[in-house]
Amino acid sequence: MPQRYYFYMTSFLISSDIYRNTHYGGKHPLNIPRVGATLDLIKAMSWCDEAKFITAPIAKPSLLKKFHSNDYVNVLIEADEKQEIDKNQSNKYNLGTPSNPIFKGMYKRPATSVGGSVVAAEFAFLHGRAFNLGGGLHHGLVNKANGFCYLNDLVFAIKRFRELGIRRIAYVDLDAHFCDGVASAFSEDPDVMLVSAHEANRWPFQGKLEENFPDKNLYAPISKGSTDIDLEALFEYIFYPAIENFKPEALIVQGGADMLKDDPLSRLEMTNNCLWKVLSKLALLAPKLLLTSGGGYNPWSVSRLWTGFWAILNDIELPSLYTDEGRRLIENLRWFRKDKVNPNLLSSLKDEQICYGIKQETLDLIKRMNVIHKSSIQII
Ligand SMILES: [Zn+2]
Repeated sequence: MPQRYYFYMTSFLISSDIYRNTHYGGKHPLNIPRVGATLDLIKAMSWCDEAKFITAPIAKPSLLKKFHSNDYVNVLIEADEKQEIDKNQSNKYNLGTPSNPIFKGMYKRPATSVGGSVVAAEFAFLHGRAFNLGGGLHHGLVNKANGFCYLNDLVFAIKRFRELGIRRIAYVDLDAHFCDGVASAFSEDPDVMLVSAHEANRWPFQGKLEENFPDKNLYAPISKGSTDIDLEALFEYIFYPAIENFKPEALIVQGGADMLKDDPLSRLEMTNNCLWKVLSKLALLAPKLLLTSGGGYNPWSVSRLWTGFWAILNDIELPSLYTDEGRRLIENLRWFRKDKVNPNLLSSLKDEQICYGIKQETLDLIKRMNVIHKSSIQII
């Protein structure tokens, strides 16, 4: 693993209180403490340096219209103002649905994710590393809302890097769901490598093996029940070597937390140790790293993972135990889905590591990806 990009970087944390103060409402999976809980936990672990914190700005409509359609942005703003939408527009723009409900802040909140990712691109460009905590809306499409995502901040991160003169960008998606919005924008751009591991046969039912493009679009649908060893093998034998060969000038990582075993919206069984290890290794593969948050629907597993991500960007060795304040905070989180939280989440920042053997499906997947992307891969 190359070490050349490891040193002399400063990391910046970009976020906003808008994620605490706006709510998808009801029993929507995103109606849980996530970003605010992570910010609080980072502070409670004494990993928050005020000089490294940047408040994410709200992106202006004129910027949003450089990717999203004019009429869609206008309708989104209007629906937020009026707090209603008529049936025709609801059908056309996929707004006012159970997945993408009307709520106060439905425009400003995702526009803040976009503003945060644009600023994160600028800080990563200047200082090496940036974490847009509140970004990661990888399903957002040009002219409609999709999968809880009303806009697509990651597209704007790539666009901002381009404006700053960065050409070759590797985008790595750690979310349990395939990044259909990002792929719709960049799957044919030869200078954007798209890398995604996601649960097979799960919404949005894209990112299939046959959609791979040699050494450029690497989509790995992993089978339900996959664990750390499966994901790590996929990265070791396919993704790391392919990214290294691509020689990206910048790396964007969508750090969704829904691959974790405690997440209610996937059937994957990863622990946070595995995702932390992946991020640590990815950080060595490009001179600039932009990290975002993403999916993740269990307040405890999400906030622990993203807090650890911030520690990794700052080269802080992760402790097993919380500080007293961190523990208090974790114990006080609440969730409408579960009265009782898995006690392991309360006692330690790190998930319990359980050793499983690699799945036959993973070995088969690696072999098939090896054939598709043969220029860069080792054979197991
Ligand atoms: Zn997801």
